[in-house]
Amino acid sequence: MNNTQKGRNDLIHWKRELRKNIYQENPDFQHSIQYYYTKRADSLSKQLYDFGGNVARKLEPLVNENDYRLNLPRLEKYSGIGEFTDEIVHHPNYIEAGKIIYGSGMMKLANKPGNLLESLCYFFLSSHAGEAGHNCPIACTAGILRVFRNSPDFPQKKNYWKKLTDPNFETNYTGAQFVTEVQGGSDVGKNATKATKAPNSEWEIYGEKWFCSNADADLILITARYDEVISGTKGLGLFLVPAILENGERNKYSIRRLKEKIGTRTMASGEIDFEGAWAIPMGPVEEGFKSLMSNVLHLSRLYNSFATLGISYRAYQIAHSYSRFRHAFGNPIIHYPLVMENLAKIKAENTAMLAAIMHTTSLQDKYDSSKNSSSKDALLLRLLANLNKYITAFWMVEHVHHAIDVLAGNGAIESFSPLPRLLRDSIVLENWEGTHNTLRMQILRDMEKFQIHTTFLEHLKKELVGIQDQPEITQLLKKKLNELKKEIIDLLESEINLKQLNIRYVVHQMILLFSAIQLLKEGLHQIKHNCSDSKLNCLTFFINLHIKKNKINLSYYKSISKIIY
Ligand SMILES: Cc1cc2nc3c(=O)[nH]c(=O)nc-3n(C[C@H](O)[C@H](O)[C@H](O)COP(=O)(O)OP(=O)(O)OC[C@H]3O[C@@H](n4cnc5c(N)ncnc54)[C@H](O)[C@@H]3O)c2cc1C
Repeated sequence: MNNTQKGRNDLIHWKRELRKNIYQENPDFQHSIQYYYTKRADSLSKQLYDFGGNVARKLEPLVNENDYRLNLPRLEKYSGIGEFTDEIVHHPNYIEAGKIIYGSGMMKLANKPGNLLESLCYFFLSSHAGEAGHNCPIACTAGILRVFRNSPDFPQKKNYWKKLTDPNFETNYTGAQFVTEVQGGSDVGKNATKATKAPNSEWEIYGEKWFCSNADADLILITARYDEVISGTKGLGLFLVPAILENGERNKYSIRRLKEKIGTRTMASGEIDFEGAWAIPMGPVEEGFKSLMSNVLHLSRLYNSFATLGISYRAYQIAHSYSRFRHAFGNPIIHYPLVMENLAKIKAENTAMLAAIMHTTSLQDKYDSSKNSSSKDALLLRLLANLNKYITAFWMVEHVHHAIDVLAGNGAIESFSPLPRLLRDSIVLENWEGTHNTLRMQILRDMEKFQIHTTFLEHLKKELVGIQDQPEITQLLKKKLNELKKEIIDLLESEINLKQLNIRYVVHQMILLFSAIQLLKEGLHQIKHNCSDSKLNCLTFFINLHIKKNKINLSYYKSISKIIY
């Protein structure tokens, strides 16, 4: 066999390996299922295994083809015979991908209080295929289900509810959330879209929304100003706008155009004009913004974290496998310390972040299914959702980028691997559901107003109580928690502009320590129950990298070689 044939053969083997079951290929995630679902671990693991097989073999190829530039959704304003249709035409693969993703039953699970983590385990796996055109609608649909749980009845509620949890993509309803307007997304208080009461006392929406993802959703949650005298977010109500009215007519809104986006391209995002659309208030209009924040955006941030981790882990799998098959200068490139370090960073950070978001979601499940949940619990959850959203989105872009470095020239080619598509998706996921600065500023406000850092630090100290193994790591984490407490006190006492600059550093330290502690707990369980030190090895490297910030020496190299082989 000549060199050319050998090189191509290596690539054929690599491609074959990428079709392997993504659940089976991730023993650490399998262990997380054991950790959280002691009694039901085997049956859940079996279901995730079946789903994981479909993601690599069926879903990913469907999404790749759908994302090809000639297969993206398009807006047809009129039918062939001139009727106004405002229809978004999708490639058939979009429907097939939807059948696989919704077919997992994840919406039904998300609907049951206390089952969010289970639902998000499926979502994490489906996100290995990228945004796939369906992730954002799934998060929005889950948001509507949550709003329904907390809002009064209206005639169609039961029917809508059933449709939103239907696992059949051809018959179900999907949701959307339209908040952003052209004058700004972070500053929601500037929303100008109006909700007015018609003479028959029904609400109607007038105005334009600038970023409308899942533009052809069946049900839309929308913010609109119910009283023009009340400025800011206090004057915003939260309304449900069905696409089709009970009499079968289209509701009164029209899509101006679809946005040509850098990523998430198979999902249609448009600009929409509301021209007196019939709307149902979701609870008292005065509480609209509060409901949006606590039911919808809070949840979207949890979904975003799982989505980004799914994308970054798939990028890792693609690059890791490539590095085992690709040869340079006589060796598989995985033998080179610089390649190993690159991969080790992605793996360790991804494993730590997954431990953090799984713990956060398990707390959310406890909160949702308990009658004794307090407002302090809700605030802690808000802080954790913001921390997780920030770090996962921040690091994911780096992870996919560094995975591309491993494939080098081939990494930049759209038809070679899904990596360019994953990078494009990751840039969008970084910016929606709250930019890094929006999250940092909300955390700062929650610290100043509710001293949420005290609850956070108490929670972490409690998490470390009773851990006797790994005393060196435990002591280090305790010491770092004390240092963080002091840093937060200094921050809150500092001048206003310094506060806003330093919150970046403090937020980063908060999530690093939170993740390290969750990974320590999982790692100790893994050693005891699976006889594997895989997570503790990730933790050692994570700590070397971010907490001790060791110089590069032989023990640093050893910590890498324990993760990447
Ligand atoms: C593909 C895509 C789809 C989207 N789909 C939807 C959708 O379906 N529904 C929806 O409602 N929205 C959607 N969005 C909009 C998204 O939520 C907004 O882009 C996001 O909220 C940020 O708003 P903005 O883009 O207007 O940025 P701006 O608010 O204009 O912010 C610009 C910059 O200023 C910074 N900044 C703002 N305020 C502060 C501050 N106080 N301190 C420090 N920095 C600050 C921001 O962090 C950012 O870096 C979508 C966006 C994209 C890219």
